[in-house]
Amino acid sequence: MFRRINSGFLHNRGHLYSFIICLIGLGLFVIYSEDSFLHFSSSAWGWITAMAGAAVILTVFTFQLPPQGNGLSLDSSVYLACIFIFGLSFTLMVLLLSSLVLLFLEWGSKVGKHINNFAIYCIMIASASFIFTALGGVQGPLLSSRLEAYVSAMAVYFILNTLLIGFYYYVVFHKNLYNTLKGMLTDTILAYACTLVLSLVLTILLYHNHMVGLGLFLCLSILISYSFKRLFSMYRDIEERINRDPRTGLFTHSYFEQALEEEMSSSKISGTALSLAMIDIDDFKKYNDHFGHLKGDGLIVFLAELLKRETENTNIIVSRYGGEEFTLLMPGYDAAAARNFMESLRRTLNHSRFEGSEIFPQGCLAFSAGIAAYQPDVHFKSELVDHADQALYYAKKQGKNLVHTYGSQSLLEQDIDFSQDVRDIEQQLNLFMYKDLETFKHSKRVFRYAMDISELLNLDTLSKRQFTLGALIHDIGKLEIPWGILNKKDKLSLEEWEMVKWHVTWGKEMALTNEKFKDLAPYIELHHERYDGKGYPYGFKGDEIPRLCRMLTIIDSFDAMTTERPYQPTKSFKEAVVELRACAGSQFDPELTELFIRYIEKREVCGSEAAI
Ligand code: GH3
Ligand code: MG
Ligand code: MG
Repeated sequence: MFRRINSGFLHNRGHLYSFIICLIGLGLFVIYSEDSFLHFSSSAWGWITAMAGAAVILTVFTFQLPPQGNGLSLDSSVYLACIFIFGLSFTLMVLLLSSLVLLFLEWGSKVGKHINNFAIYCIMIASASFIFTALGGVQGPLLSSRLEAYVSAMAVYFILNTLLIGFYYYVVFHKNLYNTLKGMLTDTILAYACTLVLSLVLTILLYHNHMVGLGLFLCLSILISYSFKRLFSMYRDIEERINRDPRTGLFTHSYFEQALEEEMSSSKISGTALSLAMIDIDDFKKYNDHFGHLKGDGLIVFLAELLKRETENTNIIVSRYGGEEFTLLMPGYDAAAARNFMESLRRTLNHSRFEGSEIFPQGCLAFSAGIAAYQPDVHFKSELVDHADQALYYAKKQGKNLVHTYGSQSLLEQDIDFSQDVRDIEQQLNLFMYKDLETFKHSKRVFRYAMDISELLNLDTLSKRQFTLGALIHDIGKLEIPWGILNKKDKLSLEEWEMVKWHVTWGKEMALTNEKFKDLAPYIELHHERYDGKGYPYGFKGDEIPRLCRMLTIIDSFDAMTTERPYQPTKSFKEAVVELRACAGSQFDPELTELFIRYIEKREVCGSEAAI
């Protein structure tokens, strides 16, 4: 039988529920055992004592059931057998006696819990007894002709048990009633069935073999309980093996995912803090390359042992996330506490001795860590992992052997791969410094326009990166155009013009040679396409040209119009706006043109106000 109520006074609603249960249970007890003390013979008292002793023994020798290891006690088979042979008041007396013994044995645990359990048993025993009698059940030997009375009594007993305990969880812990009941039933249905059959077996044994029957029954139950314990410990063993990484003994990635889901939902409900830290060993490849993978494995185990040691007396769940990456799931830790913990862990590792650690660039063992604190607006576990991952990436970019918390430097974090990429592209653009200074300056201006426009369009980080870097690099192909043509003051000949047009293709080829900039190729290749399909190199039309490439065409043209170029006269700001409008629908996407004009006009106003 489930004895899950640990405290009936956890909560106001729980308090009220327990109170009502106690009232009903104790009421039933008083009514149906009224003056039975006086009527029982000394031999009846002997039986009551024996049966109460049996109930206590069966409560102690429980069946441990997977997955949580809840103990299911067979004491119910004693009470049911008592109902079938001796009747209700006898059974209630057995219950009283066994409850008193248990109270004595578990002295120190809450008295409220015992009273509650006692009341629940009273309700179940009384109800089962009513049904038994109502359906023609007769006290005494087991009558096969009255099978329905036995089965119904047992069914009522267990349905009430499930409902009363399930409802308690619903009231006190706000658990979903249906799921709780379903969970209880799937966990225990087999054991319930077992208890039912055993109660009938006990009825037969008791009636025909008296104390010997009871003794045999107890021996059998204790042996079954022992077998269940063995099976449960095997189950735990297997579970442990599945959830543990064999090399390090830390939890596995899949266990981590499951734990993260559970911790996030319990943080959501209880409002307690939760942080996730991801760590990655710094420059581990270098160590592998230098000493071989076997030694590398040793280093991973060394770090795992350190993590286990340092988290020993905490509730932190440490998992091996992947190769040399680990996660620390930290219930109860807010961002600051998690950071403190990780910083001290980092320093401990720095000061740990391990063979060959001097070859690391830091001169010692080191890891970088990213921390993400759980917020109620984080709905998916992948978001939290992603935040920790981004913070880890940032820590790596900042020079490694660092702990970084997600959100503490959000803008930089988002632009992190950017700033390095911008520097990489700028290095290539520097070649324009002597070849074509105007293209160099133009590229930088277009980049700044693109930065503003990407804010305006509220682009996500990836699109912003592509759009702005695409803007910066869009003319890179011009590096292939001879100096004389690039800087020619006179009008270009047709042949020269054809050559200039090739810069989009050359530029694309250049971008494709670098894995990091492959995704920028469309910006380079398509920024001279026109909305009406009369552009080059393909003559793509309207939506065939990606939206942000269409925007880049507008920015590029506007800047070309408003700045001095060898092959065209400069326009004033107003003239350029007029020209943009004139070409909207033919050269430019009309909607994006208007958007750009609004932006540029606003910028002009703000700029002149600032000048005043
Ligand atoms: P960084 O500081 O940027 O993290 O540099 P790193 O060299 O540590 O690079 P990274 O984390 O990207 O690469 C990890 C390397 O760890 C890749 C792989 O060769 C190695 N590795 C992954 N799992 C294992 C493992 O179980 N044993 C060993 N010996 N090496 C592993
Ligand atoms: Mg790694
Ligand atoms: Mg690494």
